[in-house]
Amino acid sequence: MSQPTIVRTNTAELYDAYVMKNYNRAPLTLVRGQGVTVWDDTGREYLDFAAGVAVCALGHCHPAWVAAVRHQAGELIHVSNLYRNPQQGELARRLVQQSGPGRVFFCNSGAESNESLLKLARLHGVRKSGEEGKCHQIICAKMSFHGRTFGGMSATSQEKLQKGYRPLLSGFAFGELNNLPSFADLVDAGTAAILVETVQGEGGITPCTDEFLRGLRRLCDEHNLLLMFDEVQCGIGRTGDFFACQHAGIRADAIAMAKGLGGGYPIGAMWAAEKHADLFTPGSHGSTFGGTPLACAAALAVLDTLEREALISKVRTQGAAWKTKLDQLIQEFPRQVKAVTGRGYMLGLTLHSDPAPYLAALREGGLLCPMAGGNTIRLLPPLIATPAHLDRATDIIRSVLARKG
Ligand SMILES: *Cc1c(COP(=O)(O)O)cnc(C)c1O
Repeated sequence: MSQPTIVRTNTAELYDAYVMKNYNRAPLTLVRGQGVTVWDDTGREYLDFAAGVAVCALGHCHPAWVAAVRHQAGELIHVSNLYRNPQQGELARRLVQQSGPGRVFFCNSGAESNESLLKLARLHGVRKSGEEGKCHQIICAKMSFHGRTFGGMSATSQEKLQKGYRPLLSGFAFGELNNLPSFADLVDAGTAAILVETVQGEGGITPCTDEFLRGLRRLCDEHNLLLMFDEVQCGIGRTGDFFACQHAGIRADAIAMAKGLGGGYPIGAMWAAEKHADLFTPGSHGSTFGGTPLACAAALAVLDTLEREALISKVRTQGAAWKTKLDQLIQEFPRQVKAVTGRGYMLGLTLHSDPAPYLAALREGGLLCPMAGGNTIRLLPPLIATPAHLDRATDIIRSVLARKG
């Protein structure tokens, strides 16, 4: 293990003086990671159940990932999309294998992959109605989160994220998650698509029920709407299926992915079914950095490792067993713990009060995890986490609840 190049600097002061104050950061400077563990600049270690917000699928510095990125960095890093590169072709093939017949567009983040969905929906609306501007409405869910761009923000129905940025894009309507009639009621001749997170992340860990997803599929078939899933957080194995929508046994028309795909290297992707993939024609969309050899090599290392170590099926069974153990906390601490939600390694522990003080105590106890809406603590361990890691996290949570009870 090579030594970190930056330790014990005045990082906090540098942030204070020079970094934009657009985050509520924990007072912690991280300098090293290995597997499920990260270390701060004082040498304290933490179990990392934030995993870079569901990004570090293979944990930190997985040898296969490091080898692939090191090799590719010495070979070819970036050429733009003026030319082909072998890694992008192979990664597209692998994602089509998982998603179904179709094509993949590459970009660099979750918000950008959702922008691609929104643009696909607009093009579909033009094809459907025969003219521009007539059919462009997209129905999303309340408590959604689709990113911080104007498109993503407009699809996000959370006041705290939109405040100060109006006017937003027009053409979005919002139904209640898991309430099919509330979506059906919003459909008219101007509707082009439905977009939901298959498992809502930032809004609180709230999965779409299988019944709701099948209902959306029928609704979209009936009205010729695109069924689009934002799997930026819940995709790439996190819920115990490659895509969370596979749990319901249905096919999407398009899927946005990003977070876990590169295992820490920024990459986003949008898959569209064959029937709709030709909506994008040369020049109609693009990204300078999208699908670089380096980003795609990192993603290929993630997909190879998920397969070689059979991680997705482990996430499914180990996640289910872990959830059963976390469920016991509701009985043990009924005044504090309200619910445990989610699937696989995407679980939410919803409290009866503001989780902020609990998160600080968990951090003190050696467990890092992020917050979500609705008083929810998100538990997003790397997909390589073993039952021993999960048990250790549960013990830390239990001791914090006992102390604060
Ligand atoms: C994180 C997230 C996004 C935004 O991704 P960025 O990479 O931050 O742009 C969009 N949708 C969902 C569901 C997310 O969790």
